Amino acid sequence: MSTVGELVADHSRQFSLRGRTFVSVYPVFSRRARGISVGVNLNLDRGCNFDCIYCQVDRTGPLSPRIPPLKELPALVGEELSLLFEAISSGEFFSSPPFDDLPESLRAVRDIAFSGDGEPTMSPVFMEAATLARDFLSRQFAHGESPLLRLITNGTGLFGRELRAKTEEVFLSSGSGEIWLKLDAASQPYFDRIERSRIPFPRMMEGLEEIVMSLPVTLQTMVLDFGAPDMPGSFASDRRFWEPLLKQVESWARQGAKIRGWHLYGVARTPALPEVRRVDPERLKVYAGEARERLPFPVEVF
Ligand code: SF4
Repeated sequence: MSTVGELVADHSRQFSLRGRTFVSVYPVFSRRARGISVGVNLNLDRGCNFDCIYCQVDRTGPLSPRIPPLKELPALVGEELSLLFEAISSGEFFSSPPFDDLPESLRAVRDIAFSGDGEPTMSPVFMEAATLARDFLSRQFAHGESPLLRLITNGTGLFGRELRAKTEEVFLSSGSGEIWLKLDAASQPYFDRIERSRIPFPRMMEGLEEIVMSLPVTLQTMVLDFGAPDMPGSFASDRRFWEPLLKQVESWARQGAKIRGWHLYGVARTPALPEVRRVDPERLKVYAGEARERLPFPVEVF
């Protein structure tokens, strides 16, 4: 039996239905989506242009032997979405473990979320697969309320104008899509420590600014504590982390950014690195309170 807490902690990409193990599509319970989120993983090689200190993806084990050639991946996404949604509509999905333990109020599919084992916008088949998922949702839910088509991104693929425009068209033009944009640091030391990306920090901030000025996005910030006071190189998630972040978001808001909301959250699952710790929920509430006083959009804590 799984509790809701265990389902939150279990974001396994492994999903099987009627003896078939899925490759690219995986349902999880999501506290931020408040129900079932159907993930789409296009980064089957687990490649990412960030190396976030809190990343849940274990990149040490062998890759799945069932990775298809890239050009076949969008069709596979379509096939797996069809099978999964068929099992959801027939009732089979919510009568099988672990999702049979979910309370009635949480038994709803909230979104198809492009997320996965790496940055989705970096996949060469991202747009093809996203278009296919959008068309799938409009067919499947032609006469009812549709789950959202959601992109969870660090934004880097959207620095290019062409992909940004196409992403806007596919995810946002129908009015039933959302983009959740990662913003984990707004100062060089914390960007270096948390994201561990080769992308230069000034380029990152410039690119993120272009995105928030042109697309309606929900910002996502992971707030962490690191290590213990006696651990070399450790630091707490203190004012030096928080103040540049709040100032940056406030400055974007003043310049007319299209930010729809800001999610502040702590780690729900055990991160790969032992020195990464869960932030005190009280501190998250203090940060959210300060942000609400200074920003014109909702700030939520998870
Ligand atoms: S961007 Fe996402 S997948 Fe990539 S390292 Fe960070 S948390 Fe992991």
